[in-house]
Amino acid sequence: MSQVPGLDQLDAAGRTVLVRADLNVPLDGGRITDELRITASLPTIRALREAGARVVLMSHLGRPKGQVVDELRLGPVSQRLSELLDIDVRYARDTVGDDARAAVASLEDGGVALLENLRFEAGETANDPAFADALASLGDAYVSDAFGAAHRAHASIVGVPERLDDAVAGHLLQAEITALSKLLDAPATPFTAILGGSKVSDKLSVIDNLMPRVDALVIGGAMCFTFLAATGGDVGGSRVEEDMIDTAREVLEKAEAQGVTVHLPTDVVAAEAFAADAAHEVVPATAIPAGTMGLDIGPETVAEYAHVVAASRTVLWNGPMGVFEWPPFASGTMGVAEAMADVDGFTVIGGGDSAAAVRQMGLADRIDHVSTGGGASLEFLEGIDLPGVAVLRR
Ligand code: ADP
Ligand code: MG
Repeated sequence: MSQVPGLDQLDAAGRTVLVRADLNVPLDGGRITDELRITASLPTIRALREAGARVVLMSHLGRPKGQVVDELRLGPVSQRLSELLDIDVRYARDTVGDDARAAVASLEDGGVALLENLRFEAGETANDPAFADALASLGDAYVSDAFGAAHRAHASIVGVPERLDDAVAGHLLQAEITALSKLLDAPATPFTAILGGSKVSDKLSVIDNLMPRVDALVIGGAMCFTFLAATGGDVGGSRVEEDMIDTAREVLEKAEAQGVTVHLPTDVVAAEAFAADAAHEVVPATAIPAGTMGLDIGPETVAEYAHVVAASRTVLWNGPMGVFEWPPFASGTMGVAEAMADVDGFTVIGGGDSAAAVRQMGLADRIDHVSTGGGASLEFLEGIDLPGVAVLRR
């Protein structure tokens, strides 16, 4: 179900290939603050150039909501791409207008053009047929490398490949599909899923889909307090989703019935306020003093979780263990990341904040796969056939 055709099945020589990339980088003024998404797109661009294609890159940037927003133009991205590829990338000032057509027409074999921010056109997110027609008419074949947007049925994600006979996945999309499918289809056991982050409600569908596949569920982050509350623990002023307590209890019962071990924290770092400099102390997870809130898992819990991770052959991690953005509450996330880096097995990180955390800690190179798609990786792990992947499987 997960197989899609790749670049090896595309005859690209001399053809104009529309590449939907995810070049949605964070910008501060005109400065790119993290170029990971650009560098992640390079292998596909380079492969197409070497094959003699004329490469037309398409991407969105931010949320301009169907209007031209000067701060969200792709100029800085185009410039950085030119430097990284060491060629003159032809930057079109519109998406399907005169300049886009001129840019495409100017390409020679191996040349690269970049269209303006797709979301300047309302037709992109609406998957408007006329807009999809106009985009598709710019090229002869399509390559999708935008995993981070593959869960959206937008014009450049589904409309364009529907209109072109040749539509395949690029290297980045293939790598994402291969790694995430391995978790769902044939994980080596023991398989441990570490789930954290802000809300149980965000991760419930993932938990449901993973339950029949995993041997252990390890829970941290803000969502652990809803689980601790479900077991009758006193969680003080920690963040609890009251309306999810029953659901959390059902998850625990289901896990028990299916032989899945659920690990909840035994100690937490409780703070007097939700602030980076709040006074804090380590307390038992089920006896958190009134007026304090758990902002990280405690040292005993970190050791236990590291032990579970070390004994696993497959580990998926989604969601930080604490408020890792603030150093006093980053130890849990750091401890789990380090344990994962040491695992002798297959390790995957999904989720935007978890991926950012592991990169910030300098451990990304020691993880087998760090997904570039936050929302897309979650939906994939929920078992959803992403529209941008399904369309390639014709
Ligand atoms: P991901 O993007 O990896 O899927 P989420 O978006 O679900 O992760 O959650 C990340 C956020 O959860 C972080 O900003 C982090 O500060 C927050 N968080 C983690 N633990 C806690 C906690 N105990 N209390 C409040 N917020 C928390
Ligand atoms: Mg997030």
